[in-house]
Amino acid sequence: MSSELVYEMRNLRKVYGAMGNYVEALRGINLDVRRGEFLAIMGPSGSGKTTLLSIMGLLTRPTSGSLKILGRDLESLKDKQMTLLRRKTIGFIFQTFNLVPWLTAAENVELALAIGEYRGNRRRRVMELLESVGLRGREKHRPSELSGGEQQRIAIARALANDPSIILADEPTGNLDSASGMQVMEILRRLVREGRTVVMVTHNQAMAEMSDRIVRIRDGVIEGEVISSVRA
Ligand code: ADP
Repeated sequence: MSSELVYEMRNLRKVYGAMGNYVEALRGINLDVRRGEFLAIMGPSGSGKTTLLSIMGLLTRPTSGSLKILGRDLESLKDKQMTLLRRKTIGFIFQTFNLVPWLTAAENVELALAIGEYRGNRRRRVMELLESVGLRGREKHRPSELSGGEQQRIAIARALANDPSIILADEPTGNLDSASGMQVMEILRRLVREGRTVVMVTHNQAMAEMSDRIVRIRDGVIEGEVISSVRA
């Protein structure tokens, strides 16, 4: 099963703006991601990393080229099917955590269960999720009462609420001190061991080296990749 492809991207292009005033954010990306792989994407600011991640997250369609996700061709999906597939299969983690500030840790996670129309016992599931990121006992705290590392772990619990097989993380350790960043990376590694696929954008070489493979992107094209030494 480990050779199963989660993403197959061929000649992906993305153009923003109108004629005469456009930016080619992606200029022909070819990339496969295997199930159970931990992929890091690195590259300078403006190179197209966020655009690529938002296409992989079914948030944006490419201007041209093809993307298959879990064997399904993006072109064959209507917008509504794309949204449903995103909700069922993808969890997002952001640099700025993006928690709802007036909700407690438990309520932030529960909101994701509600959006995902979770049918089981929500309270029990919330506790399981918070426990899995080491935050049992923090369920009644609001984000402002927690450290950055704790907030990011709540965000990970939220991302996992609907049991996605794919996790997309945009600079998940960018706002964290290195110890908290390491904790987040260890959780991401565990998710990969459980068989999930993780794709992470990062500027941090040490964090990238905890992945299985690093892809470097520049000016909208992939300029190289390395298999991470820890995993090779
Ligand atoms: P990165 O994440 O590597 O910093 P981005 O994918 O955010 O790169 O951006 C790639 C290029 O596309 C940049 O030149 C950026 O200015 C441009 N861009 C990104 N999003 C938009 C948008 N919504 N509208 C217009 N241009 C955009």
